[in-house]
Amino acid sequence: MIQLFVPLGFLGFIYREIREALTNIERLFGLLEAPVKVADAVDAKPLQITGGAVDFDQVSHAYDPARPILQDVDLHIPAGHTLAIVGPSGAGKSTLARLLFRFYDVGGGAIRIDGQDIRDVTQDSLRQAIGVVPQDTVLFNDSIGYNIAYGKPGATEEQIWQALRMAQLEDFVRRLPMGLNTQVGERGLKLSGGEKQRIAIARVLLKNPPILILDEATSSLDTHAERLILDALNLISQKRTTLAIAHRLSTIVHAERILVLDQGRVVEQGSHEELLAAGGAYARLWADQQREQQPQG
Ligand code: ADP
Ligand code: MG
Repeated sequence: MIQLFVPLGFLGFIYREIREALTNIERLFGLLEAPVKVADAVDAKPLQITGGAVDFDQVSHAYDPARPILQDVDLHIPAGHTLAIVGPSGAGKSTLARLLFRFYDVGGGAIRIDGQDIRDVTQDSLRQAIGVVPQDTVLFNDSIGYNIAYGKPGATEEQIWQALRMAQLEDFVRRLPMGLNTQVGERGLKLSGGEKQRIAIARVLLKNPPILILDEATSSLDTHAERLILDALNLISQKRTTLAIAHRLSTIVHAERILVLDQGRVVEQGSHEELLAAGGAYARLWADQQREQQPQG
C-alpha cells in the first residue's frame, strides 16, 4: 500500500506542475477555456527557418461558426521586418497572434512561414521559432531565474544575466537578497507590471527566436516604464520578424509599416504619415487618442 502512495503522490506533484505550466501558456493568450484543437499532421516535419518571413494569405477564422472574426486577411512581413497592427478592441488583433502560434487552425486561407504552411510542420518546431511578449505576463511560482530560463532549458547563469541586462532588469535582480533564486509569483515576490514585462522580454532574449509577437506589450505601463520597455523591445525586434500589436498608437508611430484591422478585415496599410494623410480609420483612431491624452480642464 505504502509503495502505491508514493508514486501517486509524486504523480500528483507532476500533474500539478504540468497543469500550472499549461495554465501559464494558455493564459498568455487568454485561452484558459479553449479546448486543444490542433494536432501535428502524420507527416509533419520540423519548420525550416531561412529568414522568418511570415505570410497570411486570405486568412479567415471564427471561434464560433455563426460569428466570423477574421475575414480574408492578407498580411506579409518580410524576414527581419516589423509590422504593427492597430485597430479597435475586438477587431481580431490577438486572434492573428493566436493563429500564428497555431492555437487554432485557420478556417480559410493559409499561414506560411518561409513558405511552409504552419499546418504541415510540427507544433514544437513552430513554437520554438516564435517568442511572445504578452499583454499580461504570468509568472510561475518559482525562482526568478527559472522564470527567465524556462524558454531555454539548459541556459547558463551567464546567459540569464546577459538577458537580464538587455531587458534592463540586471540592477533590479542584483539588489534582491536571493538574486536569481528569489521566489516570485503569487507565493513569492510580487512584481510590477513593468517588471513582469521585462521578465517576458528577458525570456525572449534568451530563447532568441527568429519571429516575435508583441501583443500590446506596453499597454499597462506609465510613460516612464513604457519608455524603458520600448527601448528593450526595439532592441529585441531588430533583425527579427516582428508582429507588434499596439493599443497606444504613440508606441508605433515609427513603425515602418502599420496595418489597420477593423471588424476582422484589413482596412488600411502604410506608414504613420501615409495613414494620417489618407484621413481614414487610422487618422480617426489617432485623433481620438490625441484627445484622450489632453489634460482634462
Ligand atoms: P483584439 O485583440 O483586437 O481586441 P481579439 O482577437 O482578442 O480582439 O478578439 C476578436 C473577437 O473574437 C472578439 O469579439 C472576441 O470576443 C472574440 N474572441 C476572442 N477569443 C475568443 C474565444 N476564445 N472564443 C470565442 N470568441 C473569442
Ligand atoms: Mg488583444
